[in-house]
Amino acid sequence: MAGTAYEEFLELGEYHGRERREVLPQWIEAATRIGLNERDMEYAVKEFIPEMWDLQYLGVRKMIGAMTREAIDHTQLKEQRKRGVKLVYGIIPAILTPYQAVKKAGGDKVFVSFPDMCLMNFLQPLFHKGAPLFELAEQSGLTYGCRHCALNKLRIGLRLKDVVPAPDIQWSFGLVCDEATKVDEYINCIFDDKWFAVITRLPHDTCMAEVDDEIPERVAYLAAAFKDAYEEVQRITGVKVQDEHVAAALDDFQRYLGKTDVLIRLTAQADPQPLRGSELVNFCHPFSMPFNTGIEHMEDALDTMIEEVKVEIANGRGIYPKGAPKVGGYFIPYSIPWVDKVFMDNGVATSSSLSMIASAKQLIPPSGTDLYQNVAEQWLRMVFGMGCHVEISTWIEKVNRAKPDALLMGFFDYDRWLGQMHKMGAREVEKATGIPTFYIEADFFDDRDYSQEALRTRIESISQVIKMRKAAKERGVAGEQAVACEPGAA
Ligand code: SF4
Repeated sequence: MAGTAYEEFLELGEYHGRERREVLPQWIEAATRIGLNERDMEYAVKEFIPEMWDLQYLGVRKMIGAMTREAIDHTQLKEQRKRGVKLVYGIIPAILTPYQAVKKAGGDKVFVSFPDMCLMNFLQPLFHKGAPLFELAEQSGLTYGCRHCALNKLRIGLRLKDVVPAPDIQWSFGLVCDEATKVDEYINCIFDDKWFAVITRLPHDTCMAEVDDEIPERVAYLAAAFKDAYEEVQRITGVKVQDEHVAAALDDFQRYLGKTDVLIRLTAQADPQPLRGSELVNFCHPFSMPFNTGIEHMEDALDTMIEEVKVEIANGRGIYPKGAPKVGGYFIPYSIPWVDKVFMDNGVATSSSLSMIASAKQLIPPSGTDLYQNVAEQWLRMVFGMGCHVEISTWIEKVNRAKPDALLMGFFDYDRWLGQMHKMGAREVEKATGIPTFYIEADFFDDRDYSQEALRTRIESISQVIKMRKAAKERGVAGEQAVACEPGAA
């Protein structure tokens, strides 16, 4: 039995017996380094996690364990560096396959990571404790009032707290966000001149009807840009990336994508729904960060979760009432999981339908003979590579496929990439699909600006409208006539 809150946390993540005893000292050290104390641990295991997560599922617990393994690994970066391990960082939005290929090629000689993403995905959804690190960045000059991205603030905070040392090389993609790459420059100029970054960019100068991944020259251009950056990464780390490593990374990605698509579809179609939308998004972390400890722990959790969801569906069980309306989102704000909980309290099920299910095109593996072009093509089909007009039509395809009762947009008002797109996309998707769309102006990672109490009333009224429209639809009355509401402007 677990004695302390630290041990209870490890139990939650499926560390038992000898393994738990062995990991415990590293876990206590890791937690302390990222600013978690005993009180935070008590709060997480006794209140926050049981309330925000469906711990009855082994798949969920294994996923918490996989994220914990990765987070502990990330607090050892300084020691890794001293041992001569080369540190390769990246940041979102990025094309992940190349990083995973570097890890496959370099093994233990290289630590491949998006440290800010990894620790954000750990600190906020499980402990609700990113704020002290955001504040460190704010005190250093990235002021609170300027609505900078909390993820970028976390990167600065982690550097200032000396959890994350300078990388040997940071490889970033400025495809859709310039703030992320600018922050590398900021860290280099102000705090750490050893913080070395290379940037891969693709100009978004396509015309409205053009689709990047269907234009051979653009695919070739991005593939060539990968090769350039690879050469730099290889020069600095001494790791040689061969075609077989790129091919293996590509396979991992495509396989994981197929499996998450199964989980999301099963969950979204089930009535009663067996899992929360925020948890679905957490299963998708291998699309937003490389796992230095390998994706097999996440994949094992995902496989387990798929089987558990099938059993729940076969037995007619779920965590929401039968018939509960479903609200889709872009990413359900998993880093602020109480948003999901408030929807749940109001009898509305969240499911992720835009960012996480794959479009028909995304599920087809590229089959060209040039591996780098395959990587480029694969990622230009994903949201990070698309222009705005293409992404919105992909949203429409996904909404038509998932058929949620409503759509929740927003939570990205600060964001260099999604901020404007959510505002435009909300209207466009609603017009094209007839699904009512609600927009909430808020921050995806940082809830210091809004409280549960403040948002509860809005979510209550959104939920009420969604339920009335669903009931009206079921009675055969056109929702627009039956309910006076103003979707898109919650
Ligand atoms: S602003 Fe958005 S796209 Fe840019 S780093 Fe932050 S979360 Fe990523």
